[in-house]
Amino acid sequence: MTVEIISVGTEILLGNIVNTNAAYLSRQCAALGLSCYYQVVVGDNEARMAETMKTAIDRSDVVICSGGLGPTEDDMTKEVACSVMGERLVEDAETHRLIEMYMGRFVRSHRGYQITENNWKQAMVPEHGIVLKNDNGTAPGLIIDKNQKIIVLLPGPPSEMKPLFDQQVFPYLQRKQSEVIYSTTLKIVGSGESYVEMSIRDLIDTQTNPTIATYAKTGEVHLRLTAKAENEKKAKELITPVRLELEKRFETQIYTEDEEETLEMALVRLLYDHNLTVTTAESCTGGAIAARIVNVSGASSVFRQGYITYANEAKQNMIGVKGETLTRYGAVSEQTAREMSEGAACTAGCDCALSVTGIAGPTGGTKEKPVGLVYIGCTCRGKTSVKELHFSGNRGKIREQTVVTALAFLRE
Ligand code: ATP
Ligand code: MG
Repeated sequence: MTVEIISVGTEILLGNIVNTNAAYLSRQCAALGLSCYYQVVVGDNEARMAETMKTAIDRSDVVICSGGLGPTEDDMTKEVACSVMGERLVEDAETHRLIEMYMGRFVRSHRGYQITENNWKQAMVPEHGIVLKNDNGTAPGLIIDKNQKIIVLLPGPPSEMKPLFDQQVFPYLQRKQSEVIYSTTLKIVGSGESYVEMSIRDLIDTQTNPTIATYAKTGEVHLRLTAKAENEKKAKELITPVRLELEKRFETQIYTEDEEETLEMALVRLLYDHNLTVTTAESCTGGAIAARIVNVSGASSVFRQGYITYANEAKQNMIGVKGETLTRYGAVSEQTAREMSEGAACTAGCDCALSVTGIAGPTGGTKEKPVGLVYIGCTCRGKTSVKELHFSGNRGKIREQTVVTALAFLRE
């Protein structure tokens, strides 16, 4: 793990105090085996502090801040850290009680003093934060451990910072270092990224271990679940319930849970397991579907030949699409897609066939048949179904989406 140390305080920038905290924290981190790549000093300025923390949390696993946890206006480290980490501030009852006790004692022994509103600011803590009890002052230390990043906030006075770090932060980071990170990826076809994200918003918002991240690829969405635990077995146990929930929500749309497996690999595996052979009849994809299938080593056990039937004559001569169908319904039609797929399966003597016919553009579109209109036919053991799709994007994008959708269609 890498660590970055941020020392907050205009006094340090002005040279009025020597930054002994950074030196101390760096030494302790070295003892922990953490690699410290950056030490930064920033003044008591909200915008610059936010910028500094954002940069730090992007490039380092652990960020340790000291200073700016006091009760006054210029103390804003906690507020900035919360906004950077997406945390709300909530009141911590225990800290509130401790401040009352600590300040109460002070007020009673110092005439003219009283607890001010500002003091209660110190009882506010990040909603998912860990509160570190400070025996030497009123500002508790804080840890925000979220999305595989840790930010530690410590008060500036060395007499408070050092014991907090040694007694509570040091063992915490020591435990973290021995943790393993385990992740698994669920690959989904047939839904767009925004739809997938919407359907799991509740899980993304509430899950911190494992975390769920979505990655969009053409025609696919990958969900990466990452858990941290003291060993791999525990990490897998953390992932299991979330994985089961996702399987329930997406069912057959999940084609693999293997990081290395591509859609075409999953398809070839499925055909092989069911002892089925496949052929292709492609118009607008020009052989790209066959190419994807042949990409898989071992494809020969399920795929022998495919047809690129771009022109109408090719559709007729190679796989027996009827001339009448082409003139009556057009090359880009449900009927043509159906005859292409049935014709290909029959000619090649295969159990299954995939056919595509569509308008990839940029020219060739009409009002009734716009660019992006694609028909995909799928024959399996004598039964044929055809899907009508409307894709957007340029020629390359439309063809790419067609390939993925066709492969996914056969999987169904
Ligand atoms: P307070 O409640 O005292 O305001 P704080 O967490 O807000 O605590 P600062 O106001 O930033 O901390 O600093 C308080 C005092 O702590 C400073 O005047 C200085 O004496 C000491 N201090 C702060 N930062 C450092 C540092 N990096 N190195 C050494 N001493 C520091
Ligand atoms: Mg202060």
